[in-house]
Amino acid sequence: MGLKFKMRYGQIRKYDVANGPGIRTSIFFTGCPFKCKGCFNEKYQSFSSGNLWTKSEENKLFEYLSSNHISGLSVLGGEPLAQGDELLGLLKRVKEKTGKSVWLWSGFEFEQLDSNQLKILEYVDVLVDGLFVVEKKDLKLKFRGSSNQRVIDLKKTRDCSKIVIWDGIKPGQ
Ligand code: SF4
Repeated sequence: MGLKFKMRYGQIRKYDVANGPGIRTSIFFTGCPFKCKGCFNEKYQSFSSGNLWTKSEENKLFEYLSSNHISGLSVLGGEPLAQGDELLGLLKRVKEKTGKSVWLWSGFEFEQLDSNQLKILEYVDVLVDGLFVVEKKDLKLKFRGSSNQRVIDLKKTRDCSKIVIWDGIKPGQ
């Protein structure tokens, strides 16, 4: 995987009710090595699109996360797990300073991840994994676009050494 050392992002949503439970702040990082047919965010596929992530964005993020209305952070793309150590540092600070839940969406499947990517996930509670597959698209699914994608509870997965689906997802959702 080509690591990127300067994170770029397409948007920060202060209030997002579509990506994860509750009202969340979300960041859409730019750059994705995949080219899913029907990608919902084609404009974020290029690693040169969007704006540089700087200290000013980080300050804004912590201001948003300090609100009692915000239940956590959602990290989307693009491909967040192509952002490397900079994302690791950011999510570590989010966990240390806020303790709020972190959700992350990745085109990689959990079993494919390398040690650097797994380190990032130490600061993530729920991973929605897998590529978007247009033939498996289902608008009824919660928090994901196609039925091959999984909403994984990372703590339970680590504890049980097998994939455990987040318990907010009921059969058929
Ligand atoms: S992984 Fe996500 S951002 Fe990347 S091409 Fe697929 S749908 Fe688009």
